[in-house]
Amino acid sequence: MVLKEICEIKVEGRNQQREGVPIKTEPLELVDLPVPKPGPKDIVIKISVCGVCRTELDQIEGRILPPRLPIILGHQPVGIVANLGTKVTRFKIGDKVGATWIYSSCGQCRFCQKQEENLCEQFQGTGCHANGGYAEYMVISEDYAHRIPDILTDFNYVAPLMCSGVIGYRSLKLTGLEDGKTLGLYGFGSANQLVIQMANFMFPNSKKFVISRNPAERQLAKNLGAEWVGDIDEKTPEKLDCAIDTTPAWKPTIFALENLEKGGRLVINLIRKEETDKEFLLKLDYPKHLWLEKEVKTVANVTRRDAEEFLTLAAQLQIRPQIQVFELEESNQALIELKGSKSPGSKILKI
Ligand SMILES: [Zn+2]
Ligand SMILES: [Zn+2]
Repeated sequence: MVLKEICEIKVEGRNQQREGVPIKTEPLELVDLPVPKPGPKDIVIKISVCGVCRTELDQIEGRILPPRLPIILGHQPVGIVANLGTKVTRFKIGDKVGATWIYSSCGQCRFCQKQEENLCEQFQGTGCHANGGYAEYMVISEDYAHRIPDILTDFNYVAPLMCSGVIGYRSLKLTGLEDGKTLGLYGFGSANQLVIQMANFMFPNSKKFVISRNPAERQLAKNLGAEWVGDIDEKTPEKLDCAIDTTPAWKPTIFALENLEKGGRLVINLIRKEETDKEFLLKLDYPKHLWLEKEVKTVANVTRRDAEEFLTLAAQLQIRPQIQVFELEESNQALIELKGSKSPGSKILKI
């Protein structure tokens, strides 16, 4: 499935046409392409499943401008190694493999040398700078591909982990949470659904508070062990030592800062916030929201180490995200449903 032009996805009752941005129902087009050939250090993945992510909406609607068009979107492919370059040493044909948002980095700069390749100036995103996983095959350097642990046998449940799991793991690490301290989760989409399961395992004595405008997500949060659930503007029963905000709006960020404990940290796990309620930021009140050493930090991309650590954790935890399955040909429908937030759970494309 190929994206050929930037457009805005039409969702019943939600879109108003903005000047110059055509509203489309079906932004992605099915095309026939040759199977890609590997360079010396590349592997070719025969993709079985690819997860669908909100970042694809950002790309389609132009909040993240794809450096080139047309492009095959998708950064959560999982499958089998189908072909190898001549210098590949880490993989053999038939290995179980997946890729994440990081497609490549320079390997030389000071960030790359400290294993912070997520901050590399030449960071390339899978399905953004290079063709990604909404396809039967994709090519990637063996250095940026990840072996899927044998115990994770069902790819349907692995694909959604490759973005929201890995970046959720990174966001949880960046909160600096310690066992026994409180954690607030704003928004309960695929990332935070996984974060709460990781946090239950890594920080069993920490209370987890889940804040979502969606009653179905609040119910799911309770089932997954949340101490308390509430709506966006509600006061949490205890102050939050740290919080993760995955919502596309600004209002939850302000309320999260209000609920934050002195010296607490809010981690925003999102590539772009939408513009629709930006005026809410005018309610930002220095004494109430920032004073007393409250911190705001964002999560940018992922590192290979995050992916490796997370996959090891996932193998121990046997996390089973809630999934909703679509065929590759139904990519547009999956994206429309994601945009409309109609149902909880991670959307995946079976290829
Ligand atoms: Zn993603
Ligand atoms: Zn670099």
